[in-house]
Amino acid sequence: MKDYQPTIGLEVHATLNTQTKMFCDCLNDPDEEHPNQNVCPVCLGHPGALPVINKQAVEAVLRVGLALKGSVNPVSKFDRKNYFYPDLPKGYQISQYDQPLITGGELLGVRIRRIHLEEDAGRLLHEIPGEAKKGEASYVDFNRAGTPLMELVTEPDIRSAEQAVAFAKEFQLILQYLGASDADMEKGLMRVEANVSLDMGPKVELKNINSFKAVGSAIAYEIERQKGSLEKGVKVEHETRGWDDAKQKTVSQRTKEEAHDYRYFPEPDLPPLEPAKVFDVEDLRAHVPELPAQKRARFEREFKLSAEQAAQLIQDKQLADFFEAAESELAAHLRTYSAEATLAAKAGQDFGGQARDERETVTIEKTPQNLLFNYLTSDLIGLMNEAGTRFSAEGGSASGGDVLKIEPEELAHLIDLIADGTIMSRQAKDILRKMFQTGEDPETIMRAEGLRTVSDAGEVEQVVRATIVENPNAVADYKKGKEASLQFLIGKAMRKFKGRGNPATIQEILTKLLR
Ligand code: ADP
Ligand code: ZN
Ligand code: MG
Repeated sequence: MKDYQPTIGLEVHATLNTQTKMFCDCLNDPDEEHPNQNVCPVCLGHPGALPVINKQAVEAVLRVGLALKGSVNPVSKFDRKNYFYPDLPKGYQISQYDQPLITGGELLGVRIRRIHLEEDAGRLLHEIPGEAKKGEASYVDFNRAGTPLMELVTEPDIRSAEQAVAFAKEFQLILQYLGASDADMEKGLMRVEANVSLDMGPKVELKNINSFKAVGSAIAYEIERQKGSLEKGVKVEHETRGWDDAKQKTVSQRTKEEAHDYRYFPEPDLPPLEPAKVFDVEDLRAHVPELPAQKRARFEREFKLSAEQAAQLIQDKQLADFFEAAESELAAHLRTYSAEATLAAKAGQDFGGQARDERETVTIEKTPQNLLFNYLTSDLIGLMNEAGTRFSAEGGSASGGDVLKIEPEELAHLIDLIADGTIMSRQAKDILRKMFQTGEDPETIMRAEGLRTVSDAGEVEQVVRATIVENPNAVADYKKGKEASLQFLIGKAMRKFKGRGNPATIQEILTKLLR
């Protein structure tokens, strides 16, 4: 089969998380369950109602544009995009046509063509449980009508389905880091449309993509479908196709509409916008926060984490913040460790490069940051997922679930107790579970529950002697050379300690006494 070159461009919509809608004072609340609660004459398209631009929405788009190194247009205007659909009461959508807020920019090597601001439409419901079955009637919920949407359009710089998914994921993270949008694809707060062509032939626009997985599958399917057509000598149609997630294929929806079909014209009810007159653009640019890519690199460098570990933390801003806050509480220990690391590195230099590398690797594996990473990402996140707990009330809207009772410094304290040998992982996990349930600090729990690990040689020896007396057969077997009996005896001793004995100390004393 001939090698075809896929070309892909994305159009990404995101609902901005502003207080109010784009052109009226109605609440912008994607979690409102009751239909038609947040409506008014403006967003219901009543004649004579006048739109007013939401400054917060404009600012959010400017911040996203600046974060992606785009240019703010000196003059930007709104246009009417005319079409009919029952969820669009005005018969047109206020959008931006030839003068978007942002032009240019770049993300992961993909050029951004533009970012503009528009309003969303309402939502059609074709069945209402207990009220109307499918096919009986259709209902319109206008809560979403008029909510602010930003649309980002890329240049056709993407070459594969995987690259498209990576772009969409990174863009979602940036929106979340900037606090511009929750960008949750499952909730429809971020929507991705993909344009796909082969060998610069006609492009097909893919819609109805509702997850990152679907972004990948829809594009991969479409590339194969177009290849199949070309192989058979069938022309690829310039059309819009919908992704059918159940059938895992794209289905023809309609031939592609052109810009002139929408009869765009300047919105007469809104004056052109000169962003620099309303916002201090340079100040906004200077206050672009640390973006995920920079944070990833910094976490790797500063906390000696692997690329995978850093990526896992950065995936969730609250998780990354929690890690960083806890990490800074480990400072005292860190100083000792990093002093050791420096000494090791210096000593290593005298023995040549390889020795130094080995020393450094060993030190990195033992870092408290790594302990912290493991306890945070597997143990604590495990408990949180089990209980549906969130890091904080902010950000997570009405989605329910308790807020985490553990403070970063308390988790750091737990890691300290492990790092200095006061407790071992078995106790640490028990203490963490208690901390999670009660919010008490680890030391209080450790004392109250007597969970301190027993490493004291005298104390351990007493118990080991008793174990030897009580298990003469195992002792005899061990002396005859049966290694497994040693494990059996360690297990017996551990049971006497109710799991609190330090197994290394027990083994050491046991072998000494049995020699
Ligand atoms: P249209 O006029 O159909 O809206 P645009 O040129 O405005 O087309 O581009 C819309 C989207 O299609 C952009 O994301 C762009 O990157 C993408 N696109 C443009 N040309 C191609 C192509 N040949 N193959 C795939 N995608 C393309
Ligand atoms: Zn309204
Ligand atoms: Mg277009």
